Amino acid sequence: MAYEAVIGLECHIQLATVSKMFCGCPAEFGARPNSNVCPVCLGLPGALPVTNREAIDAAIRLGLALGSTIRDVSVFARKHYFYPDMPKNYQITQYDRPLCEGGALPVRIGDATRSFALIRVHAEEDTGKSFHPERHGDRQVSRVDFNRAGVPLLELVTQPVFREPAECAAFLTALRRLVRWLGISEGDMEKGHLRCDANVSIRPAGTQALGTKSELKNLNSIKGVEKGITAEIARQERVLASGGTIEQATLLYDADHDKLAVMRSKEHAHDYRYFPEPDLPQLAVDAAWLAAARERLAELPWTRAERFAAEYGLPAYDAGVLCDQRELADYFEEVVKEADPKKVSNWIMTEMLRHLKATQRGVSDWARNVPPHHFAFIIRSVETAQATATSAKSVLDEVFANGGDPASIYAERGIRARSSSDELLPLVRAAIEENPGPVAQYLGGKTATLGFLVGQVMKKSGGQAVPQTVKDLLEAELARRAAAR
Ligand SMILES: [Zn+2]
Repeated sequence: MAYEAVIGLECHIQLATVSKMFCGCPAEFGARPNSNVCPVCLGLPGALPVTNREAIDAAIRLGLALGSTIRDVSVFARKHYFYPDMPKNYQITQYDRPLCEGGALPVRIGDATRSFALIRVHAEEDTGKSFHPERHGDRQVSRVDFNRAGVPLLELVTQPVFREPAECAAFLTALRRLVRWLGISEGDMEKGHLRCDANVSIRPAGTQALGTKSELKNLNSIKGVEKGITAEIARQERVLASGGTIEQATLLYDADHDKLAVMRSKEHAHDYRYFPEPDLPQLAVDAAWLAAARERLAELPWTRAERFAAEYGLPAYDAGVLCDQRELADYFEEVVKEADPKKVSNWIMTEMLRHLKATQRGVSDWARNVPPHHFAFIIRSVETAQATATSAKSVLDEVFANGGDPASIYAERGIRARSSSDELLPLVRAAIEENPGPVAQYLGGKTATLGFLVGQVMKKSGGQAVPQTVKDLLEAELARRAAAR
């Protein structure tokens, strides 16, 4: 029997606020263990929480970007369970009246844009972090760091709208882009800024009723989400194919070994005994706050990509790549004031992104050494035949590495495009004299060696010869020799 999968995601987004959700402790990462703590986030009796307005503002902006309905009054609730890294024995979260409801995230998959519907986005606090077990002398010990306890989190829950693991990966990639774009989170899954659990069930293809779902945890990279869900779908198919039934369970996925392990089965399902948090007032978001949040909301990545395609005549693919990061889109819009949009896009997608990937650096590092005006100068120099692409790229490499004004580098080095046959013919003839082997191959019919000879002439010209002229001259000179044989 053919099955189809039904998948829903629960994503946790760690907010990049200065302080924690309900106290003034720094929310920074990497401080000495248990140094950013106070009575509130340690859960000491009598300590009273106060809601972090900046965290709620971030949640509102995310909700607005996703087209969610923002409740004017939402409620924090206590979710009870015991865990060593949660000293209060309850987590402050939102339950039946969350801050944001509904909405959808548009995701580009291949050539189409699909919209994945959401149930809710709510605000809550993170737990501390356990490290276990570690060796301590002759004992195995577990240790707890409460620096993360109380750090602001948003939980985003999708409808069960996904059918393929690859759709989940594309969704997470788009969500990561959005939270970075809005400046509300670093969105790094490997560092736990973005976490994801998946609810997975399968049903006979074409039917409507939902099968029993399992919950997949510990998916700590986008690749891991895709692989883990793929493994769980395959597991459920094997169970059903062998006549078994799917048990409701929570599973852990080990990406390194591509293995699933059952963490707890239905018998241990939690009853969290939610009730409204008595120490916090209801969360009221008035019209003025909403308006201010809307004001702070930048042009959204998918809107901006559409505008880039329409306004600059770029292919949808280019527009998508340029709007992958807000800084990159901003940089493009500066360069494009002084150079042809498609050419700028090509140079960014090939040269700039290649350099950034190779050096593991960011757009701001690039812009510091190659300000938009200088990049535009280099791109234009090729279009106006002032320099060859080879020379221009070598100057760009240098400017990215060391900074400097490309116009002065061009002047100092006498960089220009050489296309006159008076200048190039001697180089062409020298290359032919020095490479009798490849010349003989060419004349013998192996025309692919022409590329090698063009390369030799380019080298002699210091990269300044115009390749098409070199090719024309070489072909003419070789034809002349062939005729003379
Ligand atoms: Zn604190």
